[in-house]
Amino acid sequence: MKITIFGTGYVGLVTGACLADVGHDVLCVDVDADKIARLESGEIPIFEPGLEELVNTNAAAGRLSFTTDAVAAVEFGTLQFIAVGTPPDEDGSADLQYVLAVAETIGRHMNGFKAVVDKSTVPVGTADRVRETIANVLEERGETLDFDVCSNPEFLKEGAAIEDFTHGARFVVGTDSERVRELMRECYAPYIRLQEKLMFMDVRAAELTKYAANAMLATKISFINEIANLAERLGADVEQVRRGIGSDPRIGYHFIYPGCGYGGSCFPKDVRALARTAGEVQYQAQLLEAVEGVNHRQKQTLFEKLERAFDGDLAGRTIALWGLAFKPNTDDMRDAPSRTLMEALWRAGARVQAYDPEAMEECHRLYGDRDDLALVDAREAAVENADALVICTEWKVFRMVDFGWLKQQLGLPVIVDGRNLYDPETVRKAGLLYFAVGRGDSL
Ligand code: NAD
Repeated sequence: MKITIFGTGYVGLVTGACLADVGHDVLCVDVDADKIARLESGEIPIFEPGLEELVNTNAAAGRLSFTTDAVAAVEFGTLQFIAVGTPPDEDGSADLQYVLAVAETIGRHMNGFKAVVDKSTVPVGTADRVRETIANVLEERGETLDFDVCSNPEFLKEGAAIEDFTHGARFVVGTDSERVRELMRECYAPYIRLQEKLMFMDVRAAELTKYAANAMLATKISFINEIANLAERLGADVEQVRRGIGSDPRIGYHFIYPGCGYGGSCFPKDVRALARTAGEVQYQAQLLEAVEGVNHRQKQTLFEKLERAFDGDLAGRTIALWGLAFKPNTDDMRDAPSRTLMEALWRAGARVQAYDPEAMEECHRLYGDRDDLALVDAREAAVENADALVICTEWKVFRMVDFGWLKQQLGLPVIVDGRNLYDPETVRKAGLLYFAVGRGDSL
C-alpha cells in the first residue's frame, strides 16, 4: 500500500519504519526541515532502540522516504496518517492545532479518495473536527471528493517502541466505514497473521480507549506511590508490599513499581486532558484529578528528601544526578522527574552534575550552558566531588555499584534513590545514608 505519515516524531517515525519494513511504500512528511534533512542523510533525530537500522534499511530498499513537501505527501498515500504532537494547552486540554493543520493540508491538496487516520492521541470528537475541517476546505475549493476519517490510537511506549508496534496487544481502529475497515485490515495484515489483533469499534470508543489505557496505567503508578509514602511513614517496606499484592493475578506485577513519579510525553498530558474533557461534559473526574495530584507531589519528594538531609540548606552543594530521561532506553525528558528536581535544586542555590546514557544532548537543548549544571560523560564523573547522589532513572548501567567506592566520592554521603535500585541493607552496611521510596525509612 502507499501510505503517507504526517509527523516524524516517536510515533510517526516508528510507524513509518515498521510499515515500510513489512513491505508498504511509506512517505513521511514533517514541517521540521532540519529533521527531514537529518533523516535523509541517515541520521535519526531521536534515540529509540533498533530504529536507526530499521529506518536506514528500509530507506535504502526504497520503501521509506522523507519530505517536507505537503503537496507530494497528500498525493502519495491512500492512507494519510496523522501522527503529529498534541501537547497540552494552557488549560490542560489537548492542543489540536497541529492535527487540524494537517487536516487542512489534506483538504487543500487531495485529488482523489483519502482515508485519514488519526494516530495522534486526541480527545473524543476530534475525528468529527478533522472531518469538518477537510469538508470545509473542499467546499472552499468547490470540490466534492470522497474521504473518510478513522481513529487508530497508538499504544507503543518509548524505549520499546518497535517491539510494541510489531508485537503489541492490539490495533484499535474506530470507524463506521466498511471501505476504511478493509484498508486498515490490508495495512495491518502482516501483523495479524499469527493472531487476530485488529479491534474495530466506534470512532468515539477508539478515541476514549487511548485515554482510558493511559489513565489506568498512571492510576496504578500513583496508587503504588501513595502506598509507598504511607509505608515510609509506617515503617513498612513497600517492595515487600509490592510483591505481596502483585502476586494476585487480579492486580499483577506490571506498573506497580514505586518511584519518583511518572513523566514523559503521554501520561501527564493525557490524564490532564481526560480530566479536562470530563469537565466539558459537566463531570468531575475525581479519580483522575487525584492521580495527577499524587504524581505532582511525588515529583517533589526527591528534592524534599535532599533538603532534609542537608538541614534545609542546599546552597553551594553539588548534587550528582544519575539519569535525566523520564525512563530508561529513551532520550525523552518531557515532564521528567529529573527536571522538577534540577529546577528545585537551582532555586535552592545548588549545583547539578548529571549523567544519562542518552539524554545529555536533550538536556543541553533544554537548559543550555549554565554554571550550575555540568553534563558529564560517565556515572563516575557525576559523583566526583559531589555532596550527594540522586537516582532519577533506572538505566541498567546504574544497577551495579561498588558502594565502598561511592562512599569515598560523596561528601555527606547520601543516596536518594527515586527508583529503588538497591538493597537498603547492603548500601547502609557500606556506610552510606540511603533513602529510597517507601522502604520504611523516612527522612
Ligand atoms: P513528537 O513531538 O515527537 O513528534 C511530532 C512531529 O510532528 C514533530 O516532528 C513535528 O515537527 C511534526 N509536525 C507538527 N506539525 C506538523 C505538520 N503540520 N505536518 C507534518 N509534521 C508536523 O510527538 P510524538 O511523541 O511522536 O507524539 C505524536 C502523537 O502520538 C501525540 O498525540 C502523542 O500523544 C501520541 N503518542 C505518543 C507516544 C509516545 O510514546 N511518544 C505513544 C503513543 C501515542
